[in-house]
Amino acid sequence: MFVDKATIEVKAGKGGNGAVAFHREKYVASGGPDGGDGGDGGDVILVRDNNMSTLMDFRYKRKYAAGNGVDGAGKRCSGKRGEDLIIKVPVGTVVRDSATGAVMADMSATERFIAAKGGSGGWGNSHFATPTRQAPRFAKAGLPGAEREIILELKLLADVGLVGFPNVGKSTLLSVVSRARPKIANYHFTTLFPNLGVVYAGEGLSFVMADIPGIIEGASQGAGLGHDFLRHIDRCRLMVHVVDVSESEGRDCVEDLETINRELAEYSEALASRPMIVAANKCDLATPEQIARLRERVEAAGMDCFPISAAAHTGTEELVKSIAYRLASLPPIVTFEPEFVEPEADLADTEPEINLESGVWYVDGGWVERLVENVNFGDYESRMYFDRILRERGVFERLEELGVNEGDTVSVCGIEFEYRK
Ligand code: GDP
Ligand code: MG
Repeated sequence: MFVDKATIEVKAGKGGNGAVAFHREKYVASGGPDGGDGGDGGDVILVRDNNMSTLMDFRYKRKYAAGNGVDGAGKRCSGKRGEDLIIKVPVGTVVRDSATGAVMADMSATERFIAAKGGSGGWGNSHFATPTRQAPRFAKAGLPGAEREIILELKLLADVGLVGFPNVGKSTLLSVVSRARPKIANYHFTTLFPNLGVVYAGEGLSFVMADIPGIIEGASQGAGLGHDFLRHIDRCRLMVHVVDVSESEGRDCVEDLETINRELAEYSEALASRPMIVAANKCDLATPEQIARLRERVEAAGMDCFPISAAAHTGTEELVKSIAYRLASLPPIVTFEPEFVEPEADLADTEPEINLESGVWYVDGGWVERLVENVNFGDYESRMYFDRILRERGVFERLEELGVNEGDTVSVCGIEFEYRK
């Protein structure tokens, strides 16, 4: 089974919470704060693996989660970092964010990619001892890890892509010019998955050629098999359009050429503008007039035309030489530039929720979450800023209305402090 597209869910680990703890020792009246930091959450990391050739592993397993960071503890003990989750993918995999469709990474250009970053561990209260505040009662909570759905798409790494109607002789050509052994048979859709072959063009020159299943009319609209496979020629530097010039199946070979080119253009403009040459196959069955007619149309369109017979091995060597010659002046295999930007949740507009639970006032969500992430609680000025914003934006007022008392514990997004008027 050849699987070349998969959608999976990746979830990074949550950061461990920072600890609130105080140094205790015999004969020492009151020690300083010694709460350790929470460990960072583990990342979900994609790593490319040269031995994989399909995305089959992702057919049944859909959810992937990294380990959570462990909470900090007293005596400045930091929590352990959450374990990373490594996911192996084939080399040509392109990773997209499912929500936006944006390319996150091309695993042909990068060896490792963090698909979901673990949340940072929270600072323990040992960070917050300052000359003015000797016994801080607050520590930071660990942050949640990133969580998203991603699409994995395999796009083969080939210099040359063979395109054309079913049964025109693409697989035969690949088997003749390379050591690849694709299935060859006289019926449509013999090729159910792409085949790759290394073609030696002499003098240390070689290139990779891909034979993809036949593209049929309507393929770019999703009709038939061809559509799914078009992505495998996305990276090709040169396309070789194979045409049955003998018209052995009763179709007009010039129309064939135009139909397929229309399909390619509809699938992707980038692909339609990729350089192309035409291999006029089955010359052993064709009349000189048929060959001349096709050649004229191909050359009028500004392309080179090579009459060949893949089955009889005629003209194939010339074809291989000209492919190698053309490739020498073409740009390298296409890679896809990442275009994904980590979405910034817009918290600015929503107000936090306030709930009273077992004597603790919890202020969570909305804009305070962003505020808390950005305040360094180890710094006096920053804490004053935090205090001022909460006051200015009416959080203290709301707490008063709800009946908060002097000395009550208020937890703002995991940061606890005592309420003072
Ligand atoms: P694909 O579907 O484009 O991959 O076509 P295949 O390579 O599977 O070939 C389809 C049929 O055409 C097979 O029966 C081949 O033997 C035959 N064929 C391929 N090339 C030639 C050729 O040059 N001359 C003749 N007479 N038959 C060919
Ligand atoms: Mg084939």
